Order: sequence, then C-alpha cells, then structure tokens
Amino acid sequence: MPFPAQKSTDSTPLYAQVAFPVHLSKTFTYRLPPSIQQVARLGSRVVAQLGAKPLTGYIVALLPHLRTGTSLIESEIKEVQELLDVDPPLTAEVLEITRWVADYYAAPWGEVMRAALPAGINATVEQAIAITAKGREALMDLETSSPDQVRTVALRLLASEGEFELSAFCLRIGAAKTPQWLRQMETEGLTERVYRTRPTVTRAKRRRAIRLVDSEADESKSNNQHVTESQQRAIEVLRAQQNTMAVSDLLKAAHISESVVRTLAKRGVVTEFEEDVRRDPLSRAELPDTEIFKLTKAQTDALRAIEKRLSEKAFATLLLHGVTGSGKTEVYLRAMQAALDLDRGAMMLVPEIALTPILSRRLRAHFGGQIAIFHSSLSKGERFDEWTRLRGGAARVVLGTRSAVFAPVRNLGVIIIDEEQDSSYRQEESPFYNARDTAIVRAQKESAVVVLGSATPSLESFHNAQRGKYEYLHLPERVANRPMARAEMIDMREVFARHKKPAVFSDDLLKAIAETHDRGEQSIILLNRRGYSSFILCRSCGESINCPNCDVSLTYHQTDRILICHYCNHHQRAPRQCPACASKYIYYVGEGTEQIEELLRKRFPTLRIGRIDRDTKARRHQFEKTLLDFDKGEIDLLVGTQMLAKGHDFPNVTLVGVVSVDAGLALPDFRAAERAFQLITQVAGRAGRGDLPGRVLIQTYHPHHYALRHACAQDYRGFYDEEIRHRRNHGYPPFVALALLLVRHKDAARASATAQELRLALVEANKDHACRILGPAPAPFARLRGEHRVQLLIKSRSRKQMRSVIDAALHNLQKAGNDLRSVTVEIDPVSMM
Ligand code: ADP
Ligand code: ZN
Ligand code: ZN
Repeated sequence: MPFPAQKSTDSTPLYAQVAFPVHLSKTFTYRLPPSIQQVARLGSRVVAQLGAKPLTGYIVALLPHLRTGTSLIESEIKEVQELLDVDPPLTAEVLEITRWVADYYAAPWGEVMRAALPAGINATVEQAIAITAKGREALMDLETSSPDQVRTVALRLLASEGEFELSAFCLRIGAAKTPQWLRQMETEGLTERVYRTRPTVTRAKRRRAIRLVDSEADESKSNNQHVTESQQRAIEVLRAQQNTMAVSDLLKAAHISESVVRTLAKRGVVTEFEEDVRRDPLSRAELPDTEIFKLTKAQTDALRAIEKRLSEKAFATLLLHGVTGSGKTEVYLRAMQAALDLDRGAMMLVPEIALTPILSRRLRAHFGGQIAIFHSSLSKGERFDEWTRLRGGAARVVLGTRSAVFAPVRNLGVIIIDEEQDSSYRQEESPFYNARDTAIVRAQKESAVVVLGSATPSLESFHNAQRGKYEYLHLPERVANRPMARAEMIDMREVFARHKKPAVFSDDLLKAIAETHDRGEQSIILLNRRGYSSFILCRSCGESINCPNCDVSLTYHQTDRILICHYCNHHQRAPRQCPACASKYIYYVGEGTEQIEELLRKRFPTLRIGRIDRDTKARRHQFEKTLLDFDKGEIDLLVGTQMLAKGHDFPNVTLVGVVSVDAGLALPDFRAAERAFQLITQVAGRAGRGDLPGRVLIQTYHPHHYALRHACAQDYRGFYDEEIRHRRNHGYPPFVALALLLVRHKDAARASATAQELRLALVEANKDHACRILGPAPAPFARLRGEHRVQLLIKSRSRKQMRSVIDAALHNLQKAGNDLRSVTVEIDPVSMM
C-alpha cells in the first residue's frame, strides 16, 4: 500500500495524519486543537488516543481539510492530545526515507520511524491510578467498618498521595501486577485510570558551571573586599580557563570547597549557570596516532573516482572491490574528508558492533568532534547525545551500524558501506529492512554518492557492476607488497579414515597452533555455524544430499528420520548408509564454541584463550574487552563464530583455523556457498596483516566444493562465474526477486491452516503466473520461542508484480476476516533461516 505523499499547503492545517509504532500499516486522522495548529510540523511527535489508550505517534501529513472522498465523520474524529516537539526530530529527509522503507518492505510506517530515532527520544505513556470522589466517600465508611482491609489501605494511600503511577503503586501494595480487587474498585468507580505522558525519557545531561564576572569590575571589588587565599586561587584558575568552568572541575583544580564558590557568587564575582554536557562514548578511550600514508596508485585512482562523483553533486553508486589489506579504510576516510571539504556530510555503515572499537577510535582520531558514533552498545544517554549533535549540525559525520542509515546527517555527500555483502545489514525483526539498500535509495533521494566496499562483494552488487549500474573500482593487491595468506584445506575424510572416529581437530591444525604460540604469535579458531540442527554428511566420502527441486541442502529431522526441504517441503527418508559409498557414518552435528574452547584448554593448558560468540556479545563490555585484550597481545588464541572473521585488523595473528566449514555449507539457504566463500576469503585476510606471513587452515569433508576451491585460490571471479550460473539456472537473486512469508503461531494447527489459506489467496491473486509460490514448508527453525513457524517462498522476475500479488492476497484475506497478525512479510530476505 503506497503512502500518500505530502503536499505542502499555505493554509492552516486543521487535521493531522498520524502514524503509530504498532503493527498497523494504516495512518490515522486527528483534529488539531487551535493551540497546536500553528506549531505542528511534519515529523513531530504527538500523543493521541488510539483505541482505548493514548499513544505516541508521528505526524506524517498536515491537512487544511479532510481529504475528499473520505469516509470519516467530522464528529467522530478525535483530537490530538499533546504535541511533543516544536522542532521535529524527524527531518524532512529522514521522514522521506522512512516512508520509502515502509512502502518497499511492507512495514508499518510508525515502526520504521521509531526505529529511525534513538531509543531515548520516544515518549512513554504511563498509567497512573487516582481516587475518585466516590472512592473518598467509600473510604470514610471503610475506615470505621474495616480499617485493615486491602481496599482500605489502598484507598487511604491514594487519598493521601493523589495520583500514583500504576506499577509503582502495585509495588507499594506488594503486588507484582495489577490485582483483581484493584480492577474491581475501578469498575465500581472508586478509582480511575489516568494516562500521563513522559515526553522524553532521555534529556541532555546538565551540570553546574560558573563564569567570572567581567574581570575589571572584580578587580575593584577585590580591592575593597577581603579576598581569602582560596578565593584568589579559584579566580586564577578560572582566568586560566577563559573565565568559565564546570563547578566540579573548579573544585578539583583549585582545591577549594563549595562554600568558596558560594561566597564568590554571593559577592557577584562569579555567576552560576547550567550547561549541557556531552555523554561521550569514547571519552576514556585511548586514541591511536593519526598516520598519514602516501596512497598507493590503486588507492589514489579509487579516491579520484569517488571525488569526481562527489563534485558532480549527483547520485552514483561505486563498488570498491579491494582484497583484504588493500587499504580500503584509508580510501573511505579520505572520501569522507572530501565530502566535508565540500561542506557536505558523510555516513559510514559497518556491519557489526564487533568492528567498531578499533575503527571508531581511528575515525575519532581523524575527525575529532565532527564525528558521531552510533551503535547498539551505547547507553541511551550517549546515543541521545550523539544523535543530538548530528541533528543540530555540530557533528557532520556518522559512523554506525544498521540503524545509522536513518541518522540526521545534514547535506549528505557520501555514504560508505563497508563489507556491503554482510547479512547483518538486514534487520531480522519488524521493520525488516536492509540498511545497504536503504542507504542507496537515501543517497539517490539526496543526490549523494554511495561507496560499497568489500573484499567479496555480494553476487548482486558485482552483477550490478558488471551491468554498468555501479562504477567498479578495484584494489587488487595488498598495500606495501604484503603477501596474501595462503588458505589450505585439511581433508577431514582422511583424518576420519586414520583415526576411525570423528575428530574435532586434525593433527595439522593442532600442530600449527602449537608452533604459532612458540613463535610468540596469535591464532584465531573459528566455527562456521549458527546453532543449527543436524544435517547429512558422509564422514567417509564427504557427500551431502540436496533437494532435487531447489538446490539447497536437506535438513535431517531425527524424530521421524526424514530429510526435509525448507523451501518446497520436499520430504524423503533419510538413508541409513551413504548413497555414494555405503559408509554408515553419515550424520553430522557440529560442536559449539564452548566445547571447542574446552578441548583447546585441555590440550594447551598454558595458552591464554579467549572466546567470542553470540553469548558474550550480549555482555557488551566483556566483548569489547576481549577484542581489545587480544589486540594488545594479552590473549594468545581467540575462539569464535564467523563474526570474528570480519574486519578486524590484528597484525600479530598468523594462524586462522576454521574448524568445520561444512556446517555452514549445509545450511538450507541458497546463499550458503556464497557465505562460505566470503568467510574463507575474509578469514584469509585476517592472517598475516602485519609484516608476518599468515597461514589459514580449513577443515572440511568436501574439499572438492567449488566455493572452497575458489576461496583457497583467492579467486573471486572464478567463484562468481560459477555461482551466478547456479543462480540463473535455479532461479535465485539477482535473477528473481524473493519474498518470504512467515506464519507464526503457538498452535501448530493454526499456523499450518493460516499458511494454507495464505497459499490459496496467493494462487488466486497470481492469475497471470507472474510468481512461483513454494510451500508452505516448515521454517528452518520450525519452533522458536514457543511458536510454530511455517513459511512460503515467493519468486518472481518482476518485483512489482510480486508485490501486487502479495498485497492483493493479504488484502483479500483481511477482507474475509482473517487475523493477519501472525503473518510477517519479508521482501528481499537475506538470510533464509
Ligand atoms: P582493508 O580495509 O582493505 O582490509 P585496511 O584499510 O585495513 O585494509 O589497510 C590495511 C593496512 O594497511 C592498515 O594497517 C593500514 O593502516 C595500512 N595502509 C593503508 N593504506 C596504506 C598506504 N597507502 N601505505 C601504507 N600502509 C597503508
Ligand atoms: Zn559416503
Ligand atoms: Zn525444495
């Protein structure tokens, strides 16, 4: 459903169209009370009644009169209750890009707008409880008849305190949630529910500061008034600081007490005031020295091309394909500087928080106060301050993860997207959006230049470069003639044959770890797996089993001993022996990072081992600390999942081992081969970044797999040519558009029934056969958080037709009275898991 574009108007708006951050694609019309009419702006937040409750929403249109043809009845239109901003937090540009995201990804607009703003800025509506007149009367009777009853105690408390915040009140009366008798009192009219809004949870942090009043005047004053030694000291320290200081700083610097400040203020020597302080995420970070390199020829050419596009002030997308260690970061930095020199803003997106501690220090060292940093582990206060600095124009560059694509950068000149192929640019919950694709559209709308950087571009992006849609920039070599690390495969079938039982580590890898440590160098051990269930793989010959229709791996379901395709629902019995070599050792369940760490600790008790995975990631400080410790050489070996492969630059790492690359290849995802290729190429880039040569060891049961062969040979082009053929033959992106429709329900039967209805509606809407509709099939995670998950996959050569088929199907289902809250639509899914 496309949203109406805003038309500007000169007449006073009497109505506002409001979008709410709830699971509804609709916007709602409200009347603006006269006090708000003149000050309401597009992108401002308001509080208005939606259903039974007041909610915070965003103004998306201002209307001088009701739209013609509307079915709204004047007397039924509610009024906006409160306007929360005079200066709208959503700038016109950001409002526009959220509208595009909502429209393109079929997401509720209000949800997108909320995602675009720092968490701290969204107002919360809190419920309070108050005693009514009837309640006061009842209390008088109760005080005499039953003074110790809970009702009496509660009413007494309310009568003395007035209004009480509901959850605080429940705590006070010793209840975890609203007790039944309290609800009953409300029904009887003894109490009432009051809604209060707390506009911004997060505000600027303020501190007391003082200023020396006009120096000459104070000379004369100090002549005729006695000045103590400590007062004199305070005045001198203040003078040395341009006459202004935070009170707390002054107390420390001049070794004086509060009373000295108070006396000086009373005498009019100083005046006190409040000032905003910035909560700076990097205030205590050690910053690296800024190095000035002479760019290599390839770097220079790439930078020139970007600068040329920048100077044209028109939209362009460039693909910077540079092998790991080719100096892409230096090019990004200078491209952003070039934008600043043209008085324009810059944005750099990185995939994972894991990438930011070292990179953010480097950029901070270069850009100083001009840069704002956004990522998920900032505190609410830090995030609010960084956002405010951008919004106000104090900062002109933003570095951040996915949601930074909505940052209010002014006059955007360049957007850098590092590791553009990375799947974490995709938000895996509503609103589903891809930050890379959103950034490209935003650049187009704001006439900015986009640089997509990668050592292993996504098939889609390289394809676009091939077609001339993107300008192709290539950095084929590492800087300073550093050699590329060699990746070697270790054939686990041989290891199995030798030991006659499955082994986690090959002798070669263990030996390499020991040798690396003896030389005083560091190792990384990676696991390529995301807690995924078992799959079929023959430990004797390496054979795995694919779906005959879909060219993706089949997943093994132990309970019924069957193999399932999660795309088309193809079922077959699991063989008891390998169809190729008759071996009985055919199932495979990989180890987790914890077990790997255990095994290594036992084997190498003297090694200092650190671990990083999804669990440690949840603990923000631990995660950052482990990475920084590893960087400082205080950890010898780091164990982790594939996220460790990305972007880090540890010069002393000379060994990277991948324990089980096969687990990743066997994921039921058509991008599994591409991901494995990217992983190994990136991993190879991790080893030998400094002046030391590196070694990369990949353990695998199928060393003949094309993704592994090309990755070990560092042959991107070879891989691309082979992979793009598969995509064309089997009908996957970039040759078709995809949509994934997921149905979730606590009740398995309800989930399947809804999915079947959905299929029928889609088939009905697909009369022109513009789409192929696969499924319903169980989702790869068929049960998650207590919900059963069934999915449908839609393929089409025309994205537009695909969208209209989906929209029509959903519309018809809704009209027929179906509840669609259990259905999520993902356009252009990145991970099929
Ligand atoms: P990439 O992002 O392409 O993997 P980096 O930008 O991290 O590569 O660069 C790899 C290393 O080379 C870094 O340590 C960086 O400081 C250094 N470097 C970059 N450009 C130059 C240059 N022109 N001369 C010397 N060293 C450079
Ligand atoms: Zn076999
Ligand atoms: Zn299939």
